[in-house]
Amino acid sequence: MSSGAQKYKVMAVLYRGGKAAQEEPRLLGTVENKLGLEGWLREGGHEFIVTDDKEGPNSVFQQNIADTDVLITTPFHPAYLTADLFAKAKKLKLCITAGVGSDHIDLNAANKHKVTVAEVTGSNVVSVAEHVVMSMLLLVRNFVPAHEQIERGQWNVADVARNSFDLEGKVIGTVGAGRIGQRVLKRLVAFDPKELLYFDYAPMPAEAAAALNIRRVADLGDMVSQCDIVTINCPLHENTKGLFNKELLAKMKKGSWLVNTARGAICVAEDVAEALKSGHLNGYAGDVWNVQPAPSDHPWRTMKNTQGGGNGMVPHMSGTTLDAQYRYATGAQEILRRWTAGEKQESANLIVENGEYATKAYGERTKK
Ligand code: NAD
Repeated sequence: MSSGAQKYKVMAVLYRGGKAAQEEPRLLGTVENKLGLEGWLREGGHEFIVTDDKEGPNSVFQQNIADTDVLITTPFHPAYLTADLFAKAKKLKLCITAGVGSDHIDLNAANKHKVTVAEVTGSNVVSVAEHVVMSMLLLVRNFVPAHEQIERGQWNVADVARNSFDLEGKVIGTVGAGRIGQRVLKRLVAFDPKELLYFDYAPMPAEAAAALNIRRVADLGDMVSQCDIVTINCPLHENTKGLFNKELLAKMKKGSWLVNTARGAICVAEDVAEALKSGHLNGYAGDVWNVQPAPSDHPWRTMKNTQGGGNGMVPHMSGTTLDAQYRYATGAQEILRRWTAGEKQESANLIVENGEYATKAYGERTKK
């Protein structure tokens, strides 16, 4: 950046890493390690505020939003930029999501105020796809209760083998077959499933679909009723919020498994917990919660199936491996560099721009 260039106020809302972040500098997505942006921004003469304090009107995030030019957030510790906050954010021009998934930003309000929202598209899609396959395996093989038994000093093979199956021969379907969905499916081929299915309003490229030998199902209820395992890989928007409610869960096969690394609010938390408790679902796994951090009494922390297992929940971590953190930190810097230099952004990174959705992934919309 040239020293004569315009100076901006940049705010990043990140999670606190504490001791782990001090010991591991590659934990770039933390308050301590600041996405590796501090030196570069200060050299350019910009003001850079980094915080994890994001809730309520007195939080550092809400106190500083009024005169921030560029806001950097992550989906892991989401700063919820509501329509009310947008109204206060008079100077805001650019929101960068260091990662993938910008639903914590009110995108319709961003359009109204003509604020650009960009994310580091593709930065962690492999990381999530691997986590999805792992989650399927740990649910289907009944891994968590088996490991817990070992930690308790016990040994009872029958107790855990009674609910352990193979991935081979199962029907597996994805809701959303974009970057992550397709990578999940590609990895599943190696397990010889009986059939792979997908539900998405956007058809998969013919070549990709042929390589996966996949069948598109036009109705979501119809698809989930055929699946042993369902994986959710679509963004959270108006039409996916609360999509997996009591009614849709009832259409799933009895004893099936559900993996959701997309967004917590796509599922109704109480309805999922009830479906697991009743035995309708055999397992639920994922890393995304309807509020983050999740409250200590969130039902997904402790919910269990009828045999005391079936819970594969972890904190929001699938897309934040150290490999992914490097990619989304350098990607965020590149978005910022282009913006300060007045260059065009890579089109795949743009979510909304100039008052319009720049991607088709956040719901079916007809342009005004
Ligand atoms: P993508 O844009 O490549 O693909 C999303 C797909 O979902 C698109 O094909 C789109 O048409 C489809 N879709 C949208 N609405 C749908 C609906 N109502 N029904 C069916 N399909 C629908 O995005 P991606 O890179 O694959 O990421 C998908 C989502 O995964 C992100 O938006 C984010 O919410 C989540 N994600 C989570 C993590 C994590 O750490 N857990 C990391 C990255 C992304």
